[in-house]
Amino acid sequence: MSHVVNADAERTVVVVEDDPNIADLVDLYLRQAGFRVLQAATGARGLELIALHRPVLVVLDVGLPDVDGFEVCRQIRAGGSTAALPVLFLTARDGEIDRVLGLELGADDYVTKPFSPRELVARVKAILRRGSNGAASDLPGGIAATVLDLGDAITIDLARREVRGAAGVVALATKEFDLLAHFARHQGIVLSRQQLIDAVWGADWYGDDRTVDVHVRQLRKKLGDDLPLATVWGVGYRLG
Ligand code: CA
Repeated sequence: MSHVVNADAERTVVVVEDDPNIADLVDLYLRQAGFRVLQAATGARGLELIALHRPVLVVLDVGLPDVDGFEVCRQIRAGGSTAALPVLFLTARDGEIDRVLGLELGADDYVTKPFSPRELVARVKAILRRGSNGAASDLPGGIAATVLDLGDAITIDLARREVRGAAGVVALATKEFDLLAHFARHQGIVLSRQQLIDAVWGADWYGDDRTVDVHVRQLRKKLGDDLPLATVWGVGYRLG
């Protein structure tokens, strides 16, 4: 897959947040980090800005005056050209975190209020680093390549986080899916364990190198011989 990434000057982030103090703070720090920032105080306005300006990422508050952030995220995921758009949730309460994670909305990350603006910027950068190879913004015209073929029998729908094998939908754990998605976006390339750890686990990493192998073993078990994933001895793995 090609790396046609938006020019740095056009790295727009849409911030959907109805509290003007928080919105301005996030705005300030993201601007200092070199992003162009557009603010929306409602979900409807946020969706409008996203459609108009094709941002590289959305910072999305859960509690909004019109529709909640979950609904906004659902609409982002349902939109053809925005389905793979990274979303960083701002959550106010523990209950909201559970919903962000539990609903499998495809949230890329979240921060809980009150948060450090520096931390938020670090999260934004981390998401963009790991997502810079397959998201909608990578492709000319912003067309989302959300369904990828792995070999002859397996397809992976990045937006719906759904994997299909010869026998139908295959249930994968979150990191198993993330790992498979990363392989899918780098077909034909040998990926080392460390590269996979950085891309798939990033700041969440707390295991050792064998965790990658364990997840690969699970993928092979669940997808069987249809998965064209080769072990490159002493280096790592290659798909296709
Ligand atoms: Ca709010």
